[in-house]
Amino acid sequence: RADVGLYRAKQAGRNRTVLESSRQLPLAVELREAIDRGTLDVQYQPIVSLADGAARAVGVEALLRWSSHAQPEVTTEGLIRVAEEYDLISDLDELVLRRACADAARLQETFAQLDLTLNVNVSGLELAETEYADRVSGILEETGWPAAQLVLEVTESELAAESETAIANLHKLREGGVRIAIDDFGTGYSSLSRLATLPSDILKVDQSFVASIRSDSPAPPLLGVIAALSKSLDLQVIAEGVETEYQAAVLTELGFALAQGYHYSDSHPVSELINDLNDRHGVVGAALSENEPPAHGWIPLD
Ligand code: C2E
Ligand code: MG
Ligand code: MG
Ligand code: MG
Repeated sequence: RADVGLYRAKQAGRNRTVLESSRQLPLAVELREAIDRGTLDVQYQPIVSLADGAARAVGVEALLRWSSHAQPEVTTEGLIRVAEEYDLISDLDELVLRRACADAARLQETFAQLDLTLNVNVSGLELAETEYADRVSGILEETGWPAAQLVLEVTESELAAESETAIANLHKLREGGVRIAIDDFGTGYSSLSRLATLPSDILKVDQSFVASIRSDSPAPPLLGVIAALSKSLDLQVIAEGVETEYQAAVLTELGFALAQGYHYSDSHPVSELINDLNDRHGVVGAALSENEPPAHGWIPLD
């Protein structure tokens, strides 16, 4: 079965296991068309503050979704890998970034008092393109989303690829006010000295660490180490994949300030995110929620 390779790759992390080529090419062609037509979806998962136990949303992470294609069993990670292999990743990431910034700008109009941060994933391949930082500035200008409220997430393993252009882009983006998060932290084998010099602001601790917090076993020692490390390097730290109240309690105890996961909320189309934020904050987003949700569940760019 063609999807087996993808599931295996997902389990093994971001290694380069590929789909059987007989099904990868049609998928790439279909993905190309979807990018050109803009028939891809972006969903948003809240990032919450652990500070006062109220799980206030302080931001959202944009996640690619593609519901309307012929191989619905393919995971988002699988799609990203196909996009990377067929040189579609820059166009794909740019589409997600543009749409996410436009959606977030509309949300912010409704929830002015929230000061939401928008997190968007970027492929290491795209980050290594010379004009990447300028492209991001262009999209911010076009959509009106403030640089200071954008976080770009790049995985630790992709940063380990050690591209000078990528590092130059990170510096340029940070000079412009954009913050950088190292995603899936703890799985990429960065040396401590490298970590201290990487142009970054936030560590997103890999879900596997959080998954190992269970009431029937002692708290995994590395989580405390990561919390202390981020403090001494002056980095913010986000725990990903929080699924239980128990995990949330342990993470709070360990000094984590921010969390994300099914325990709080799954990802939603922007129209439903408004309801989630309303439930969470009791702010009535009349301007947006009175309108019919758009066909694809996101706010058109018009
Ligand atoms: P990520 O950036 O680490 O995103 C977190 C993943 O964990 C998401 O999977 C999310 O849906 C899932 N998740 C959230 N909460 C929980 C939880 O409590 N438990 C568990 N088990 N999972 C949870 P998703 O959406 O399938 O995305 C997978 C990966 O694909 C992302 O990992 C990111 O690396 C990549 N990705 C997603 N969208 C984009 C994009 O627009 N561009 C690029 N380059 N990569 C993207
Ligand atoms: Mg991410
Ligand atoms: Mg992650
Ligand atoms: Mg991941």
